[in-house]
Amino acid sequence: MSNKITVLDKGYVRLIEPMGSDLSVVNAARVSFDKESGRIDDRDKRLIQFLAREGHTSPFRHAFASFEIYAPLMVARQWFKYIVGSDHAMDGWNESSRRYITEEPTFYVPGKEEWRSAPENSKQGSGKPVDPLIGNMLMNEMENHIRKGEALYNFAIEQGICAEQARLFLPAYSLYVRWRWTASLQSICHFLNERLASDAQNEITQYAKGVYELVEPHFPESVKALVKQHE
Ligand SMILES: Cc1cc2nc3c(=O)[nH]c(=O)nc-3n(C[C@H](O)[C@H](O)[C@H](O)COP(=O)(O)OP(=O)(O)OC[C@H]3O[C@@H](n4cnc5c(N)ncnc54)[C@H](O)[C@@H]3O)c2cc1C
Repeated sequence: MSNKITVLDKGYVRLIEPMGSDLSVVNAARVSFDKESGRIDDRDKRLIQFLAREGHTSPFRHAFASFEIYAPLMVARQWFKYIVGSDHAMDGWNESSRRYITEEPTFYVPGKEEWRSAPENSKQGSGKPVDPLIGNMLMNEMENHIRKGEALYNFAIEQGICAEQARLFLPAYSLYVRWRWTASLQSICHFLNERLASDAQNEITQYAKGVYELVEPHFPESVKALVKQHE
């Protein structure tokens, strides 16, 4: 299986490194009785279910995974809120910087069938898709808007303005950013539970599906125990 999943028009989520396995969870719990398992058996699976059900969460913090994500800034802002058990609580959230010009600005542009209406229920972020004719018009307008922003950005750079200020001209929410996220298995499953749920924004849910697909094969019993099943 590939360790990289394409998301949205130009984004991706890539599993850099899983650390530990279901066995790390089991053995962290069994140390209380000075016991250690060599391979997962049915008792271990029941133990994982018990730990998750009863909220004995610390054993799930002995396994980690590291990802690289390329996503629009609006998704990064939502992701950044997962603080406990993620590496920016302990060390650093590492993100590409537009203070230094590292690469061409890249933007998320929803396709003509991907524009959603305002929601009927204010607790939901969006409603049904709009007519593709309207979507097409908005897609074209957005491309014009991005071109204009980029032109102003380049103009400011030509005037000798530093990149960290010139970037103010770039449409920010749709700008793609790249970062690395290392988090405990507990924190990853907390993220998945919230962002696979139906009230999460569609775009971050698409990333959460990618994270789920990449992480589940490495920690199948723990993910089954911790992540609620979403449609
Ligand atoms: C659908 C949806 C809509 C949202 N809308 C908004 C919004 O409009 N505005 C906004 O600002 N945010 C919003 N959020 C973000 C939300 O408020 C959380 O910041 C985000 O979901 C991260 O969850 P968390 O705080 O549980 O994560 P973490 O910070 O990773 O915390 C994990 C868990 O650790 C425990 N914990 C964390 N800190 C403490 C503490 N100090 N003391 C004791 N226990 C602690 C809690 O049990 C917590 O659930 C939204 C989230 C969702 C899913």
